[in-house]
This record gives sequence, structure tokens and C-alpha cells, in this order.
Amino acid sequence: MSDKTHSLAMPLIFPGSVDAAGQRATLGVLGGGQLGRMFVHAAQRLGYFTAVLEPDAQSPAGLVSHHHIQTDYNDPAGLAQLAQLCQAITTEFENVPAQALQTLALTRPVVPGAAAVGIAQNRVEEKALFTACADVSGVACAPYAVIETLAQLQAVQNERTDLLPGILKTARMGYDGKGQVRVKTAAELAAAWAELGEAACVLEKMLPLTAECSVLVARGWDGQVVSFAPQRNVHVDGILAVTYAYEGNMPPALATRARDAAVSIAEHIGYVGVLCVEFFVVDDGSEHGNLVVNEMAPRPHNSGHYTLNACDVSQFDLQVHAMAGLPLPQPRQHSPAIMLNLLGEVWFDSSGQRHEPNWSAVLSLPGAHLHLYGKLDARPGRKMGHLTITGPDVASVKTTARRAAGLLGLPGLDDI
Ligand code: ATP
Ligand code: MG
Repeated sequence: MSDKTHSLAMPLIFPGSVDAAGQRATLGVLGGGQLGRMFVHAAQRLGYFTAVLEPDAQSPAGLVSHHHIQTDYNDPAGLAQLAQLCQAITTEFENVPAQALQTLALTRPVVPGAAAVGIAQNRVEEKALFTACADVSGVACAPYAVIETLAQLQAVQNERTDLLPGILKTARMGYDGKGQVRVKTAAELAAAWAELGEAACVLEKMLPLTAECSVLVARGWDGQVVSFAPQRNVHVDGILAVTYAYEGNMPPALATRARDAAVSIAEHIGYVGVLCVEFFVVDDGSEHGNLVVNEMAPRPHNSGHYTLNACDVSQFDLQVHAMAGLPLPQPRQHSPAIMLNLLGEVWFDSSGQRHEPNWSAVLSLPGAHLHLYGKLDARPGRKMGHLTITGPDVASVKTTARRAAGLLGLPGLDDI
């Protein structure tokens, strides 16, 4: 299988260049969230102009871009303007309408292609891909069944009790643990499917996780692949809370397998751009446990934000390189790092009063790198920013991260 939506030739868009008509080299992004903002920063640092298509007037990426096209993602005039302004286009979220990517791809290189984004938009297709790759990648996904019809629900209730207890997940539009219901019995499964509006779903067996990790891969138009070492992730209430990025964050044999599997998945679909593949480490009675592939994000990922400060090239730099047809340097991590996500809760004290976090104390910590996304409205669970701690060694990074967590009222790093 290859991504047939890349019909156009590999671009070569030099940063800072100007074409015969006087138009500056410009890179575009669909979506105005924090991932778009950090992409825009990376592109601008290299000397590109940027354009963001995003309906929200106050979006994190729109606020910092040279051009902000303020329309819906599938507005024909907005898409035409984006294509007219930009020499290549990417997306910062996978739930962008596939049709929008296809329309843009008719006239401009689009990275990643609509086919790859389409797979990541749908857990049924995603799991089919992982299953097709398992022989090469050496890593399977969790046992699962597809439930799209009442007949399929009943068949699972009768014949796949091995999947219980399990998690029923909607095939589409799930993120940060949304669109998921945990079920123990066949009766709970039926109730959960009704609760999810009888939408297309997958039922996944609940696995005994001992850890979670993710791998970032970047692949170029010419098939060149580079990757970062796996980062270990801790989620709280279905949302990423902490990323541990340093050697020794997980058993080396599992880390190598995860990295190889992520690369083989990117190669299998002829992916172009930055791809994040998430894995579970599952207790199977062996010393280090077994690796299971969970899902993929066709873009830079929250778990890769530490690369901005701990590596000589970041996940956003690589996205810029990949879409512009520039070479992909193998990233080198120069410092161990821990990333703490800053959700809206950080802006409220224990009595529920809104307050400004104690930034002067946080920013006095050695190796503290604060990234706020420019969102005004702090709501519980909303990703407002992140804080990456780097340092000369793992022990000092852990000590500083614990102090930062204490100052910000985040769960202690030992508790999560
Ligand atoms: P994301 O925001 O990463 O896209 P998501 O909402 O799409 O998340 P998943 O990553 O599938 O959903 O699941 C969220 C979390 O639920 C996982 O990180 C993991 O902690 C837990 N989880 C998911 N599937 C399983 C499983 N089969 N067994 C045990 N725990 C699971
Ligand atoms: Mg996930």
C-alpha cells in the first residue's frame, strides 16, 4: 500500500526564497491550535512565511502567523486562498475533513497525504493497518472486534467474551480519552454502544498496562527516515500529563522494538511528514513485558514537545523539512528531559479561585522551558501550555521537575 494522494512531484522549497512573481516561500497549516503554533514558529525561524487556515479569530497559531485565513476547514474560498499563498501545506490535527486535504492536494504538495490522515481518523482502518504491518513491525495491536451493526454487536456478545473486560471506542473523532466507555459484561457492552449513539466502534480487550510510550518518526518524499528514541508517557484521566525522555526511561530492548515498529509502519504506507505511533507496554509475565501498538497521530505530537528544548532538531523542524523537500537530519538529544503538560487547572487555586501561576518561581528553576499557547480561557482539561525541564543528568531533571510540579500544584511525579 502506498499513499497515492502524493500525486505531485517532491517539492524543493528553499527557506527565504522569493519566486519570479515576488511571492515569498510560504508554508501553510490547516488548524490553528498549539501544534500549528509551534509549527509556525519552526517555519518562521528558518525564514519561511506562514499561513494558517482556522475559523477562530484568537487561535494559538493564527495569532503568530504572517497570514491567517479565517474560514472553516472545508470552505472552498478559504482553501483556494491557502493554496494560492502556500507552496506546501500540512495539517495540525487529524480530524480535518479528508476532502479539504484532497482538494488542496490537487494543486499543492500536502504533507501528510489524505490517505494517511484518513487511516488515522478511523480506528477500524488504523487497526487493519497495524495488523497488516505486524509481520514486519513485529508488534501487534490489542485484540479487538469491529462493531458497526447490531448483528456485529450480538456476535461479539456471544462469541468474543475473551474481549471482556474491554474498552469500547468510537472509530472516529476520539481524542484525550473521549468517545470511550469501559465495559465489563455483555450487557454493559450493549448499553455502552447505545450511549455512543450506535456509532461505528471497536471493542478492545482491556490490557494490563505497565507503561505507555510513543515514537516520533519523520519520513521524506524520497523515503529518507529519521526517528527519535521512544518517550515514556503518563496519562491522567485520559490526557497526557508527563513525558519522560531520557535513556533508561524504558527497557532498551522494548525501546528498540518500538522504534523499529514505528519506522516500519511509516514505510508501509509511504508516509511523508512527522508521524507519532503510540504503544502500550503490557504485563505478559516476562521480565520487561510485551509491546502492543495503540494508535498513530499523523502529525507532531504532545509527547514530542520536549524535542524543542532537549534535541538539536525538533519534531516541528522535521515537519518543516519534510514538507519543503529539505533533507532530514537525524535528531540528537543533547539533554535528558521531562515534560509536564499545563492544563487549565493550573490557573485555579485549591478553593477554585482563578490565579496566575507562580511563574517567577517556576522560571527560576534551572533548565525550565515554559511554553504557553496564548489561550485566554483556562478550563479544566484544556491544554494551555507545557513546561519542559532539561538538565545535565536524569537525577537533576527529576528533582527540578518535582519542584516545578509542586509549585504548579500538579500531581507529584512519584504519584502518577
Ligand atoms: P489520544 O488523545 O492519545 O488520541 P484517545 O482518546 O484517542 O487518546 P487511546 O489512546 O486509545 O485514546 O486511549 C486513551 C488511554 O486509555 C490510553 O492512553 C491508555 O491509558 C488507556 N487505554 C486505551 N486502550 C486501552 C486498552 N486496550 N487497555 C488498557 N488501557 C487502555
Ligand atoms: Mg492515545
